[in-house]
Amino acid sequence: MSEVHDVIIIGSGPAGYTAAIYAARANLKPVLFQGMQPGGQLTITTDVENYPGYPEGVLGPEMMEDFKSQAERFGTSIQFEEIIEIDLSKRPFQMKTEFGEHAAKAVIIATGASAKLIGLDSERKLMGHGVSACATCDGAFFPDKEVLVVGGGDTAMEEATFLTRYAKKVTVVHRREEFRASKIMVERAQKNPKIDWALNRVVTDIIAGENGKVRAAVLEDTQSGDSAEVETQGVFIAIGHQPNSTIFEGQLDMDPNGYILVEKGTTRTSVEGVFACGDVMDHVYRQAVTAAGTGCMAAIDSERWLESTENG
Ligand code: NAP
Repeated sequence: MSEVHDVIIIGSGPAGYTAAIYAARANLKPVLFQGMQPGGQLTITTDVENYPGYPEGVLGPEMMEDFKSQAERFGTSIQFEEIIEIDLSKRPFQMKTEFGEHAAKAVIIATGASAKLIGLDSERKLMGHGVSACATCDGAFFPDKEVLVVGGGDTAMEEATFLTRYAKKVTVVHRREEFRASKIMVERAQKNPKIDWALNRVVTDIIAGENGKVRAAVLEDTQSGDSAEVETQGVFIAIGHQPNSTIFEGQLDMDPNGYILVEKGTTRTSVEGVFACGDVMDHVYRQAVTAAGTGCMAAIDSERWLESTENG
């Protein structure tokens, strides 16, 4: 069997890297698997203005490079691979990547969350052809175009505002009149003359033109039920996120939405020796700083658990 590590950390967002910094400094020689999106969701944002310690703000990808360097500085072994299978019923815990098998006494899950989609066939087919779930990644492809942003949360407001750097008109499509977004973000968007509003509306279809790219979307009025086709070249989906917890299904207790459940005030999951931190267990705060906080907790929880099982 391959070497048994003290701790394997799965995920490389603020939670995973913070867990790595703490675990490495506790001499646990953590191995961190970065996964499909090294650096996590912050690598697809632009300015981060609310992370303490960066008074002038910082670019998301730069901040994640800082996290990574700090984790490496204390000896974290960082692997550019994704854990695709895990068995939490055996000890040490067993897991697989595309390239090999790994074992650890303790596991810290920091796999984060991914953008949700509406669930339309046309949305899936036209992804990358005018449909996007990331304005910061794809906004520059829409110079002087008209685009829609679907959602009423902070992400939708942020993306709509950001897209006005490129698009000539951005219409926010939201299914009700009240916003889940914070007042300051809504007000910022409302003040932007390039932003228009389609409230009490949902997107029921996205239509391609002859070039295979988005030409229009069908918006349904949630009150009257009437539908209308709206010309648009881009549809940005910003309706929230889902936890990346599929590989743990049936092995760990989760809530109905797939968020991993932890014992209150800790990062302990339903399996001893397995700890969860960041957006995969937190659907309430979902901030870089809270993810980092729970990453720190997970490292401390795992260190104490290892100590108690090995010496106890
Ligand atoms: P969110 O707060 O969950 O908002 C999702 C929005 O999408 C809601 O308005 C929801 O409508 C709508 N929605 C959900 N499913 C839908 C569907 N199937 N069809 C149409 N609309 C749908 O998600 P988020 O905006 O991604 O924000 C997540 C967290 O990150 C929040 O805590 C937020 O504060 C934070 N965040 C902060 C910043 C910042 O401070 N710079 C930026 C981005 C995100 P309903 O309101 O009707 O449910």
